Amino acid sequence: MDSKVIHDLIAALPVAVIAVDAGGRITAVNAAATTLLGDRLTDRPFVTALRHPTIVQAVDSVIDPAHVRPPVPDPSLSAVESGGYRNRLVISAQGRDIPAEVTVSGLPGRNGALVVIEDSSGLEQAEQLRRDFVANVSHELRTPLTAMMGFIETLRGPAREDPVAREKFLAIMESEAARMNRLVLDLLSLSRVESEERRRPAERVDLSMLVNSVVATLSMQARTGHVRFQQQGMEAPVFVRGDPDQLTQVFHNLVENAVKYGGAGGEVTLALRHIAHEPVLRGPAVAVSVIDKGEGIDEMHLPRLTERFYRVDSHRSRQQGGTGLGLAIVKHIVSRHRGKLRIESEKGKGSRFTVILPAGQDRR
Ligand code: ADP
Repeated sequence: MDSKVIHDLIAALPVAVIAVDAGGRITAVNAAATTLLGDRLTDRPFVTALRHPTIVQAVDSVIDPAHVRPPVPDPSLSAVESGGYRNRLVISAQGRDIPAEVTVSGLPGRNGALVVIEDSSGLEQAEQLRRDFVANVSHELRTPLTAMMGFIETLRGPAREDPVAREKFLAIMESEAARMNRLVLDLLSLSRVESEERRRPAERVDLSMLVNSVVATLSMQARTGHVRFQQQGMEAPVFVRGDPDQLTQVFHNLVENAVKYGGAGGEVTLALRHIAHEPVLRGPAVAVSVIDKGEGIDEMHLPRLTERFYRVDSHRSRQQGGTGLGLAIVKHIVSRHRGKLRIESEKGKGSRFTVILPAGQDRR
C-alpha cells in the first residue's frame, strides 16, 4: 500500500495509530497518536517514540518474523491476524502512565508495522468508581444491619424477659430498618434518574405550585426544628418543562437539608426569580434558591458535595437519618432537566442552593 493511502487511512481513525516502515522508522501518525505521545514523531525511530520493550519486540517481530519472536499476547483478547500482537499494557507517554490496549500488526508485504493504541484510562476510572460505589453501599447497609443483628441477639438472650428493654430495642431496630429502607429507595431513585438522564422530560410543570407543596409537606418538620419558611416570587404560576415527581424530589431534598443542617438560623427562604439570559444555559431561565442562615459549609467541601455518600460530618448526617445520596440525586435530576445546580456557602453565615432551569416549556 502506498504511504499516501496509509496516511489518509490512519488519519481517519479515532484511536492512536503509528505506521512504522521496515527499517523501524515512523512514517505516519494520526492526531490521536500526537495527542497521546507528543509532536514530531514522523521520521523518528519508533523505539525513541515509545520506549516499551514489549511493544518494540512486537514491532520487530512483525517486520522480521524469521529473527524476532513475538511477545506473548493476552489470551483474553482476540488474536490478531498475520502474526500480530495484542495486549493490555501500561505505557509511559509525556510523563504519564496510561493503561492501554495495544495492537501491533504487519503491513502488507512485510513493509512495516501498524501500532494501534487504545487509551483505556477512562474505562479503568469508571471501573474504579464502580468498585468504590459497591464498597460504599455495602458499608452503608452493613452498619444498620450489624446493629439490628446485635439487638436480635440481645432480645433472644439477656433482654428476653425485660419488657422495657424490649420496647427500647425494638424502637431502635425499627429506626435502623427505616434507614436501610431509605437507602434502598434512594439507590433505586438514583439509578432510575441516571438511566433516564439523556431523555429530557416533556411535561409542563408549575414550579410555584410545586415548591409551595414541598414547603407544605415539610412544615411539620420545620416547626419541630423551630424554622420559619419565607417565600418569594411564587405568587403566580411559573411554568417549566419538567418531571413533576423528580422536581418535587429536588426541592424536598434541598429544603429538608436546609432545615436539618441550616435550621439553627431559624429561617429558610425559598426565592424564585426569572433570569432574562442565563449565560451557562444560553437563554432565559428560572432560578429557585433555597437559602438558610445556618452554620454554612467550609469551602473545601463544596466541589465534592454532590458526590454519592459525601458528607461534611458523617456522624451528624447519620444521626439525622441522612443517606448521603440526596444531593447526588438532585444533581442528576437537574442535569436531566438541562439545568444547573449552584452551591454557595459561607462558614458561619449559611448556605444557598440554587436550581436553575431553562425557562419556556418549548425550548430545547
Ligand atoms: P445527607 O443524606 O447526608 O443529608 P446529602 O447528599 O443531602 O446527604 O448532603 C450531603 C452533605 O452536605 C450533608 O451530609 C451535609 O454535610 C451537607 N449539607 C447539605 N445541605 C446542607 C446545608 N443546607 N447546610 C449545611 N450542610 C449541608
